[in-house]
Amino acid sequence: MSKEPKKELKVRYYKPKADIKLDISDIQNFVYDMSRCIKCKGCHWVDHTYMPGTKFMTRCPSGTKYEFDAYQAAGKMRIGHAMAEGVLDWNDKALEVIYACTLCGACDVGCKRNLDLEVELTLESLRVKAVKDGKGPMPAHKKIADNISKKKNFFAADQKKRTDWMPKGITPAKKADVLYFVGCSASFVNPEIAQSTVKILKSSGTEFMLMPDEECCGNTIFSVGMLDEAREIAKRNVEAMRKTGAKTLLLSCAEGYRMWKVDYPKLMNISTDELGFKVVHLVEFVDELMKAGKLKMKKEFNTRMTYHDSCSLGRLSDKWTPWEGKRGWMGCVEPRLKRRRGTEGLYAQPRNILNAIPGVDLIEMPRTRENTFCCGAGRGTKEAFPELANFAAEHRLEEVKYVGAETLVSSCPWCKNKFAQAVKANGNDVQVLDISEVICASIDA
Ligand code: SF4
Ligand code: SF4
Repeated sequence: MSKEPKKELKVRYYKPKADIKLDISDIQNFVYDMSRCIKCKGCHWVDHTYMPGTKFMTRCPSGTKYEFDAYQAAGKMRIGHAMAEGVLDWNDKALEVIYACTLCGACDVGCKRNLDLEVELTLESLRVKAVKDGKGPMPAHKKIADNISKKKNFFAADQKKRTDWMPKGITPAKKADVLYFVGCSASFVNPEIAQSTVKILKSSGTEFMLMPDEECCGNTIFSVGMLDEAREIAKRNVEAMRKTGAKTLLLSCAEGYRMWKVDYPKLMNISTDELGFKVVHLVEFVDELMKAGKLKMKKEFNTRMTYHDSCSLGRLSDKWTPWEGKRGWMGCVEPRLKRRRGTEGLYAQPRNILNAIPGVDLIEMPRTRENTFCCGAGRGTKEAFPELANFAAEHRLEEVKYVGAETLVSSCPWCKNKFAQAVKANGNDVQVLDISEVICASIDA
């Protein structure tokens, strides 16, 4: 009998970095997090203590749709870990698994109830690695990147028409303390949101300006891992904002809000507080105006309504603070790291506003606030994985129907469009509105 030479098994004992930084440009910063995932699935299931029943118990759109563990954060963490150790190379499936994900942050807050692993940052860093290794992003993302680089907006629309939505009778100031950053969606696809926003500003006597030569915020570029390009956009926009002298940057788009408040500072290695201006979403602004007695919801809106928490306005919007330090015994870190757990999101403000509108019967869906279920639209998903985006929106609509709501309200054009599309495709009779439209109707602007 011929004796085959004994194969040598190469066992690597990999030690995660001891000096670490919350820096997504290097996947090695997250090897500890990936290697310590215990597959408990807190990133996939909503904890029983938070669930008022047995329906709608998952939090991960990707894992819920594709069912295999690989698509949940736990699977992505394993794939990433093997890649970071150099024992797995990119292949088509691995690339699909990393990008077929809405980067919604549900897994991150789920994991941090127990283990404090930096799941969202790991997933972002894996996309950065995919781009660095010449494998990512997906073809549909490259098309958007091309639009933004050539036309300065997401839709390759004519930039000269960017402010065509401005209603007659409203003229922005040349200089003002409040600058309304409209964003690509409200500028070109959802003029009703931009129009409602400026009408609310006018009604409350708030002087506002627009950013001269506003360009895309770069949310998708950042989200798909094109870090260098996203950093250039961040620097350009922050510099342009600082130059205006405005003190408050106002947004009506949740994705843009997260980008300015969290990801620009992340890209520039500064904290949110070091931006030099305040980043505020319309719901915060209106809530403050109501408290100051400058805006009153007067007109009745008789409907059974439910509110969808956008991921980027909620769990993904805790302030950013750069951190670097050491990891020691049992994985403990120093200096102290204040984890971003999604608890500082804008959850109360939209509810205060909607509850103040006469006639509104506001009912909650089972998954709310940091446990919200993503609409599926953002962060490069609907372009590269439309079937995942459709699934997520339709799954959420099931929840809307389950609570018997006639009207679904959100605070982001991306959510509004995705839900409106799903309603149309399924012959549903749910009315989908942005909160700016509801406010505008109630103040009779
Ligand atoms: S919750 Fe955290 S530790 Fe548990 S499976 Fe998910 S990523 Fe892993
Ligand atoms: S970011 Fe969202 S879709 Fe992606 S793995 Fe986490 S929970 Fe799932």
